[in-house]
Amino acid sequence: MMYDVVVIGAGLAGFSAALAASESGKKVIVVAQGMGNLYSASGYIDFLGYYPTTSSKPVLNPGKALEQLIVEKTDHPYARIGKENISRSFAAFIKASREMGLPYTGSLETNLLMPTAVGALVPTTLYPQSAEKDVVFSREIVVVGIKELVDFYPAYAAENLERQLGRKIRSVWVDLGLNVGRELNSYDLALTLEKPDIRNRLILKLKEADVQNKLVLIPAVLGVNRWQEVISEIEEKLQCQVLEIPTLPPSVMGYRLAQSFKLYLKKKGVEFIIGFPVSYVKCTDRRCEEVGIIANERVKKIKGYNYCLATGGILGEGLKVLPDEIKEQVFNLPIKKSKEQLLNDFFNSEGQPLSHAGVMVNDNLQPVNPQTQAVILTNVFVAGATLASYDPFVEKSGNGVALASGYKAGVLAAKGGFSDE
Ligand SMILES: Cc1cc2nc3c(=O)[nH]c(=O)nc-3n(C[C@H](O)[C@H](O)[C@H](O)COP(=O)(O)OP(=O)(O)OC[C@H]3O[C@@H](n4cnc5c(N)ncnc54)[C@H](O)[C@@H]3O)c2cc1C
Repeated sequence: MMYDVVVIGAGLAGFSAALAASESGKKVIVVAQGMGNLYSASGYIDFLGYYPTTSSKPVLNPGKALEQLIVEKTDHPYARIGKENISRSFAAFIKASREMGLPYTGSLETNLLMPTAVGALVPTTLYPQSAEKDVVFSREIVVVGIKELVDFYPAYAAENLERQLGRKIRSVWVDLGLNVGRELNSYDLALTLEKPDIRNRLILKLKEADVQNKLVLIPAVLGVNRWQEVISEIEEKLQCQVLEIPTLPPSVMGYRLAQSFKLYLKKKGVEFIIGFPVSYVKCTDRRCEEVGIIANERVKKIKGYNYCLATGGILGEGLKVLPDEIKEQVFNLPIKKSKEQLLNDFFNSEGQPLSHAGVMVNDNLQPVNPQTQAVILTNVFVAGATLASYDPFVEKSGNGVALASGYKAGVLAAKGGFSDE
């Protein structure tokens, strides 16, 4: 079987590449060692939260900040992708999210400030429609903690919010009386709250906490699959607004996006092999001919015309940090940062050098030699956290880069027929 596009990696970058390629009617397969970081992350698409990176003020108009970044940082993935392609990736993702039953909203022109589990307000660009609530201008906010849930302290979050918003924020604990003999994580609790009797207990406790006409900030545990039903029921019965706050991993909001996206791609005909790293590649004349995995002691060859490399950088295990170097795991591509830069630049105000390390690409996202700029593999397109020259944490751009670069890589891989340019 010959695939048009082989995507290596099942994180947001890989999914976005698979989406773009399948939209062009191509035969696509996703091959991955494991599920990507979406399961640990908030489910928000943070596009550009802080720029310049030395600024502590959040970016409110990411489109405008992007224009400045493209001029100032020509190696940055966003400069390689271009504003028009970024807008296309947003439109494609929003359309797909609606079709997958998890509608997202937002635009390149506005960042919304969203509360974290510790009550920090952080900028994000695309978010589930159910999270479109205005924390900054809401008159009355109540932060709710659930006794059975680990790692969420409502008073602490409320205190931090008070400091930023300059007004009193109330916090309450609710005890669902589950008596399970242990604390639950977000995923366990979200599954439990899909049961009508437990959900009713929560509604009763919230009623006692007097949340009518208030904005209720509550950890994201309001259902794994039936969250829309749970949120609407609380809002309707208590005449309040509900905003879920992403929790520490396992993140239910990230899980919802990862599961819905994967199912959607499967329905579009995208095939998946998950659970095995790519263990060898065959390349000739600067083209990848085949990748292989070893499953149940058997070699499985996967052949494609074009490939997207979306292996998630250091955190996704696509890049391995060794004592003397950083190694790209699939094609052994050269990495942009040298050992000296990594050691001497450790506290660079532009961001962590390890985050900036990665595969250098040209404007077609093909991997290039960092010294000569020559294209190394003409039918491979790199996306997501494996790319060099940005810091997802300092910029707050992790899922933004994954979405936009994945989309462009998928479009180019579907088109094919590239040489060096
Ligand atoms: C805990 C946490 C929270 C975060 N929160 C946010 C957030 O709130 N907002 C935000 O915008 N960003 C956030 N980020 C950053 C963001 O998640 C990443 O920047 C983004 O998900 C990267 O996507 P990716 O597809 O490039 O990589 P990943 O999601 O890491 O996916 C990489 C994929 O490649 C596969 N892979 C790796 N090596 C191989 C191999 N050799 N063979 C086959 N497959 C391989 C992996 O198994 C995986 O499927 C967070 C990151 C972490 C770790």
